[in-house]
Amino acid sequence: MRKRLALIAHDGKKAEMVGFVKDHYEALSQMELTATGTTGGYVEQTGLSVDKKLSGPKGGDAQIAAMTAEGLLDGIIFFRDPLGKHPHEPDVQMLMRICDVANIPIATNPATAKLILTGLSI
Ligand code: PGA
Repeated sequence: MRKRLALIAHDGKKAEMVGFVKDHYEALSQMELTATGTTGGYVEQTGLSVDKKLSGPKGGDAQIAAMTAEGLLDGIIFFRDPLGKHPHEPDVQMLMRICDVANIPIATNPATAKLILTGLSI
């Protein structure tokens, strides 16, 4: 079964996400991808297909948290911008908590994301 991965990047990290996706295109093309709305739009531009949820501030992170709680995801890559303030910070905290409740790996930086991709690709 194809692994199911969610991709999220705060605005200050979207360029880093696009770079990561291009660097790991082959592995990601084997997976079922979900993303928050704006991040998903950027990911699509690389040629990958992705199921786009709402934009993060409009509830996209909450939708991805719900998918996690329902057992619909195998991993999440969420490049957070540690220097920015975000109106949907409560949703971000909820997503982190749900990942711990459901024991689903969540990577918040490229180094950890690479480890998750490797683990899911085995
Ligand atoms: P976005 O949401 O991909 O729609 O920008 C990401 C976020 O800020 O959580």
